[in-house]
Amino acid sequence: MSELGILYIVATPIGNLDDISRRAIDILKSVQLIAAEDTRHSKRLMQSIQVDTPLVSHHDFSSESAIRKILSKLQSGQSIALISDAGTPLISDPGYKLVLLARQQGSAVIPIPGASAMTAALSVAGLPTDRFVFEGFLSGKSGARQKQLQALAREKRTIVIYESTHRIIASLEDMRDVFGSQRQIFIARELTKLFESHFLGSAADCVAWLEQDSNHQKGEFVVIVAGCDEEQEEARKQQQALEIVTLLRDEVSMKKAVAIASQITGARKNRLYEVALQTAEPDET
Ligand code: SAM
Repeated sequence: MSELGILYIVATPIGNLDDISRRAIDILKSVQLIAAEDTRHSKRLMQSIQVDTPLVSHHDFSSESAIRKILSKLQSGQSIALISDAGTPLISDPGYKLVLLARQQGSAVIPIPGASAMTAALSVAGLPTDRFVFEGFLSGKSGARQKQLQALAREKRTIVIYESTHRIIASLEDMRDVFGSQRQIFIARELTKLFESHFLGSAADCVAWLEQDSNHQKGEFVVIVAGCDEEQEEARKQQQALEIVTLLRDEVSMKKAVAIASQITGARKNRLYEVALQTAEPDET
């Protein structure tokens, strides 16, 4: 029986074509076949690095039989490289099923690491990177997106999100509303490309930055959100609750207003009561 071929998972540039590694070029030249997310798109890169290895299409919707064909080529001893349109395959890109099936049939799966928008953005954000969660793309539907964000509101680790030009404003507005206007957020736009730009600031400032120039909304984005700081979060809730108490004070007793506000916002009741008393008129208690 012939030796199994190797499946190489090869990272390609996320914009600047010079970001491909020498090893990636060598592997792309030496394999018998390159499985690409979009063969037409990848042809440009292949031309620029003078690789003429045959390309075959592979994406998440590839038929079972198309995947079987790749697997049987590996079984017959041919080596194959998997690439995506940009960056590291499988990172919000196709390939998971192929990698799993290749492993299950005993083929070696070898990474050829390189660019990824996620790590590029994290490395320059100026936000903690010791622990982070990668969320990929949020839902395109506003309600579902807000629910996803609500589930992340107390996340202490830095959060990495991919976003497209169509939704960048709506997404950032939702983040401001759910995480609070003061949450620190880093926006990385068009990394490694001609119009690369970065912005680090509060959620409110990020929305303002996007709105201030329509060019800021164009291109590809990584959004990095600072994890939840419990103290800051409690201060935000207290502030929100205090506003509710002020609104309710003419209608109900201070105790009742505090109870309602604390239930709505999740602010700590005792602390809210203390602060509300301090800020109330003497005859209001
Ligand atoms: N596999 C890729 C990687 O390793 O980063 C990600 C592919 S995903 C389909 C495409 C998304 O990645 C874009 O919508 C954007 O959120 C992000 N992205 C890719 N290239 C980027 C770039 N040059 N600048 C900013 N974000 C980028």
